[in-house]
Amino acid sequence: EPEQPHREHPPEQVRDLGTDRPHPARVYDYLLGGKDNYAPDRKAAEEGMRANPNSLIPPRENRSFLRRAVHYLAAEAGIRQFLDIGTGLPTSPNVHEVAQAVAPDARIVYVDNDPIVLTHARALLTSSPAGRTKYIDADLRDVDAILDSPELRETLDLNQPVALLLIAILHFIGDDDDPAGIVGRLLDALPPGSHLALSHLTGDYDPGAWAGVAAVYRKSGVTMQVRSKPEIERFFHGLELVEPGVQSLPRWRPEPVSVGSADAVTDAQVSVYGGIARKH
Ligand code: SAH
Repeated sequence: EPEQPHREHPPEQVRDLGTDRPHPARVYDYLLGGKDNYAPDRKAAEEGMRANPNSLIPPRENRSFLRRAVHYLAAEAGIRQFLDIGTGLPTSPNVHEVAQAVAPDARIVYVDNDPIVLTHARALLTSSPAGRTKYIDADLRDVDAILDSPELRETLDLNQPVALLLIAILHFIGDDDDPAGIVGRLLDALPPGSHLALSHLTGDYDPGAWAGVAAVYRKSGVTMQVRSKPEIERFFHGLELVEPGVQSLPRWRPEPVSVGSADAVTDAQVSVYGGIARKH
């Protein structure tokens, strides 16, 4: 049946939401304590928690990294345009809220391929008057559809620096789909001064637990591929990594922790690397 690409508003007739099986965006939402999930998502999340009892920690640390990364990009790197692919369900604060708190004129294009994210997109289209937000219903693997979409072209000036956000999405792209090639093609379209911010699950610290989680996803037809630090560093090839490079998330520009806070988590519990780099 014909599909309308790049819908920016929830359609009257929603396409099949696939609520009979788990979707990464909804499993992640459940792990974050959200309400936009269904029984199969909760079942997969619970099964994942049996494989890895620390499963609640990576999503929370990842959202914290996302906030710190976007704040860095807006406040320190001076970025005013964001292309966030793999947006997920709206979760406060969203990228535009963090960026526009620093720079009200910031423009954000959100991209996700999950129909349930599309139906919630209105919550992402709440830009400050001086800025702009758009939502594109597209697949990361279809780079041309993203780059050529009228919504992107109307919203972002590709002659000015753009921050490409690939936060907790590339582990859903198997090697067969050439994730490094996808990242390279996106960056080729962006001018010097643009940045790549990325986070990615790793099995480096706790391989058994993550093999178990990947197996839970695989059973329901979802690819999840954890990667090693060198494999993740390779996504930044040809770019200049911002200090402190690719790190376990809590080590990437941590916020000062108040004395007495017992919040410390181990790298094994987190099992996500993140980093930011600049294009010359
Ligand atoms: N970036 C958000 C959400 C991460 S969850 C955060 O860090 O908090 C991963 C998201 O990637 C999900 O919303 C899922 O639907 C999306 N996703 C997975 N594979 C995708 C693909 N091939 N194209 C577009 N989005 C994808």
